[in-house]
Amino acid sequence: MTKCLIIGSGPAGYTAAIYLARAGVDAVLLEGLQPGGQLTTTTTIENFPGFPDGIDGFTLMQQMRQQALNVGADVRSGTVKSIDLSKQPFVATLDGGDTIEAQTAIIATGASAKYLGLRDEKAYAGRGVSACATCDGFFYRKKVVAVVGGGDTACEEAHYLSNLAAKVYMIVRKDYLRASAAMQKRVMEKNNIEILFNCNTEGLFGEQGVEGAHLVRHLGTDHEERFDIAIDGFFLAIGHQPNTRFLDGQIDLDDNGYIRLKGDGTTATSVTGVFAAGDVADPSYRQAIAAAGLGCRAALDVERFLSAL
Ligand code: NDP
Repeated sequence: MTKCLIIGSGPAGYTAAIYLARAGVDAVLLEGLQPGGQLTTTTTIENFPGFPDGIDGFTLMQQMRQQALNVGADVRSGTVKSIDLSKQPFVATLDGGDTIEAQTAIIATGASAKYLGLRDEKAYAGRGVSACATCDGFFYRKKVVAVVGGGDTACEEAHYLSNLAAKVYMIVRKDYLRASAAMQKRVMEKNNIEILFNCNTEGLFGEQGVEGAHLVRHLGTDHEERFDIAIDGFFLAIGHQPNTRFLDGQIDLDDNGYIRLKGDGTTATSVTGVFAAGDVADPSYRQAIAAAGLGCRAALDVERFLSAL
């Protein structure tokens, strides 16, 4: 039995754990399948304040974890398979079958970038394949990159990259962009963005890292056409999948599966005593610093909730 179960070990989860431990609130943080979360798979992070020379994602997360431990947080490995939120205390069942009862919960399970499912995406991971332009775009200054997708994220990433890279291809599988008119306009106005409509990616090539992509236009039609483009970076922007499946419909989610915060300015969700922080509740910013900020807010919300009982 704990006063607060923090589920997830990205910046949101660790920040919440640091705040609760320092406040003397008995809490348990479960690290999940990928301790440290998405940042452990990125390279150098140069936009997290406090690290003037940048810091690699893995080290940043190790340090957050260590900071949580140093202030007395109870950090455990384990993944929540399911959680019963129908009554308090909530009961979480872990992958090994153990259960934890909790008076409150902070859901900080993050989101995972969607990938196309190509074998080459794994083969070139960290060597030219990325799912975060804000994280990795800097390494492609004056180079040529491709962004896959035609939604708002893809347009945003392509626009961001166009200010750094010499040229940006957008690989769009339909003959139109799904993005909002405003985002489309921003992309169209950039001279160094070329949109390749009706195109799918079949593979990547390169010796040390990505040097190009094999594309096919009009896949599955009579006028299917295969061609290659030379690129240095391949950015996936085909959406993110918030990690909310284990909640099994017990909390209000938006149409894309993100946890809907109650809208009262706190991190409260539709279930009393359950709070959410980080990417799992944030479809638009998705930055480490924003997640850490939400983790802090969730911890303070938990403290206030518990003291009002
Ligand atoms: P979306 O689902 O809106 O768009 C995904 C894009 O990726 C679509 O163009 C889709 O193609 C394409 N895609 C999906 N799967 C594949 C695949 N296997 N192969 C090739 N292409 C594929 O996701 P976003 O992340 O762009 O946006 C999610 C939500 O967040 C949206 O509601 C969006 O409006 C919002 N958002 C808002 C922002 C803002 O307002 N500033 C910024 C970012 C996101 P197709 O169209 O053919 O399905």
